[in-house]
Amino acid sequence: MTRILVVEDEPAIRDMIGFALKQAGFQYDEAGDAEQALAAVASRPPDLVLLDWMLPGMSGADLVRRLRSEEITAGLPIIMLTARVGESDRVHGLELGADDYVTKPFSPRELIARINAVLRRSVVVTGEQPIEFDGLWLDPVGHRVRADGETLTLAPTEFRLLHFFMSHPDRVYSRGQLLDRVWGRGIFVEERTVDVHIRRLRKALAGRAYDRFIQTVRGTGYRFSTGH
Ligand code: CA
Repeated sequence: MTRILVVEDEPAIRDMIGFALKQAGFQYDEAGDAEQALAAVASRPPDLVLLDWMLPGMSGADLVRRLRSEEITAGLPIIMLTARVGESDRVHGLELGADDYVTKPFSPRELIARINAVLRRSVVVTGEQPIEFDGLWLDPVGHRVRADGETLTLAPTEFRLLHFFMSHPDRVYSRGQLLDRVWGRGIFVEERTVDVHIRRLRKALAGRAYDRFIQTVRGTGYRFSTGH
């Protein structure tokens, strides 16, 4: 299930958003300021953050900067909520790396539509071009994988998983995020399933020691990286 973190200091707006999210079938966590938001992101990685721009203490802008600068949250979709009408603030927010913005006051319907649009955009970017990392080569169109020139046989799920990883290197994904992005949103599969396919993928890559690219990030999930 898609989990959304709501970062908003005004309880009335937070409640309104929470109600809209629940109605739309999303799970959500709440944070009243940026510090709480960072703690929430660390303890339970969300799929998307709704971020009020005007927060007490650390600003929404600083929080975006912070999230974008850390590997684990660099790819996390962020929608900012802004009361300001000034175009420059929105542009600033988007330049910092927010994915979209919603101007207050907004209707629950508008908010949900924006969330769905951003989530759709963040779903697997499946390029058509072959991808290669240090001798590990994947051809999305021909469904072929080669390790140092030797063809590997991968089951369809392992192939999709590897394709996703190679298209999004050096980013950490939780099991829930991998399920959403590789298996597809709305498909009910236990998170343990991800571990099973990761194991199979590693086994398939192990012959040429490419299993080292599929890295476990303790307490968080998995990452594809050629580094350590
Ligand atoms: Ca505020």
